[in-house]
Amino acid sequence: MARYITTIGLEVHVQLKTRSKMFCGCATGFGAEPNTNVCPVCLGYPGALPVMNADALKMTALAGLMLGCRVPDVCKFDRKNYFYPDMPKNYQITQFDQPICIGGGVPLHEFAYPKDAQKSIAAPGKVVNLTRIHLEEDVAKSSHFEANSGIDFNRAGTPLMEIVSEPEIDSPEEAFAYLTSLQQILIYGGVSDADMEKGQLRCDCNVSVRPEGQREFGTKIEIKNMNSISAVRRALAYEIERQTAALERGEKLRQSTRGWDDAAGQTRHQRDKEDAHDYRYFPDPDLLPVDTRAFMDEVRARRPELPGEKRDRFVTQYGITAYDASVLASEKALAEFYDAVAKNAKDAKTAANLVINDLLSALSAAEKTVEEIPFPATHLSDLVNVIHSGAISSKQGKEVFAEMFASGNAPAAIIKDKGMEQMSDTGALEALCKQAIEANPKAVAEYKAGKAAAINAIKGQVMKLSQGKANPGVVNDLLTKLLA
Ligand code: ADP
Ligand code: ZN
Ligand code: MG
Repeated sequence: MARYITTIGLEVHVQLKTRSKMFCGCATGFGAEPNTNVCPVCLGYPGALPVMNADALKMTALAGLMLGCRVPDVCKFDRKNYFYPDMPKNYQITQFDQPICIGGGVPLHEFAYPKDAQKSIAAPGKVVNLTRIHLEEDVAKSSHFEANSGIDFNRAGTPLMEIVSEPEIDSPEEAFAYLTSLQQILIYGGVSDADMEKGQLRCDCNVSVRPEGQREFGTKIEIKNMNSISAVRRALAYEIERQTAALERGEKLRQSTRGWDDAAGQTRHQRDKEDAHDYRYFPDPDLLPVDTRAFMDEVRARRPELPGEKRDRFVTQYGITAYDASVLASEKALAEFYDAVAKNAKDAKTAANLVINDLLSALSAAEKTVEEIPFPATHLSDLVNVIHSGAISSKQGKEVFAEMFASGNAPAAIIKDKGMEQMSDTGALEALCKQAIEANPKAVAEYKAGKAAAINAIKGQVMKLSQGKANPGVVNDLLTKLLA
């Protein structure tokens, strides 16, 4: 059997987190009663005039900045003409030849790959280049019922970014990493919540296969309807196998669009696609070109530290592992919480362990988000510092943590309440040591005769006398001194 090469290019639509729609003042948002957030502009009434949403332009430029795109001085809006029931103007306002962002790329970092694929990454450090990002308006949402269909115009006119990649993605695992990384960056910038299940991020996958040795790409087939990143991976894996098998049988593939059925685990033919649609694009006469220089200084000032930059800084500044740094940086709010803890902690690694192991599992068990952590970051730094000082053991630290998560109380109060504090007071401990020495003449004699391990019996006695609270390091020092 010949070997086949896979080529994938993604077109990702992202709803922007603006308060109002792209060309009118209607509210955006998810979950309102159907057809309540509408007006003559987004319903496409003749003669209604669009007014640009400045926030949408700035957010798209910010997305571009975060992804390393070039933002040209001027961009413009065009009409893309076609008929579809969910688009009553019979054209969509979009950007054709002068989009707001050009070029750029999405870095595929190790931990953005699916867990089971992280050990066998074909191209470590790969960056997938972007063709462009343009800004357009979303269409209405249609729902199909048994006997009829319904249409909800609340979504019509929502600002939508389309992020188009070059055909440079080589496998379903790279597509997974691309989307994970892109989603993280968009959420970091606050430009979208990018939740695929809510349709805030929608991905069309273009995929083709060709026999090794053939220069031109194979026939491009588009897949739609995936509502999670892992569904994208599954759909691509299925489709690559299907296309390869067809070529093996000597069949010719046709350019077409297929839908992914996640329950059935297969793609199904939806429609053939002509080589080039004729959308009769022309500049929208109701909208002037945009001079992006008017707002780029403001946008540059809003660029956040990106996930990759945070990861690298955590590794160098706090000395934690790349894996721990990637978990902590995966969510902006979590990264900021860890940063605040680590800044005041004497041991940033213990801080990372407590956040990753104890805090994240407590949050998930309580079905809480990072925003709902029931105690301030300083409580966690305090806890790290008492563990670091030896006043309590790390095992006791976990117990204190659980109590802190339940009550929100400060660690000092919890330690006192539980009577956990290790005895480090040398005066009190010295008395106990003397008592233990008197009670163990045999061990003392052996120790003095050169059997160093004999000290353990005496140490055990001190621990017993202190009800387990004696600080073992201090006891060791005291006994060594007293027996010298
Ligand atoms: P269309 O005009 O049909 O939208 P484009 O050339 O604009 O096609 O490409 C759309 C997407 O498909 C891009 O992300 C691009 O990288 C990808 N693509 C283009 N050709 C192929 C191919 N032969 N195989 C896989 N992906 C492709
Ligand atoms: Zn409206
Ligand atoms: Mg295209």
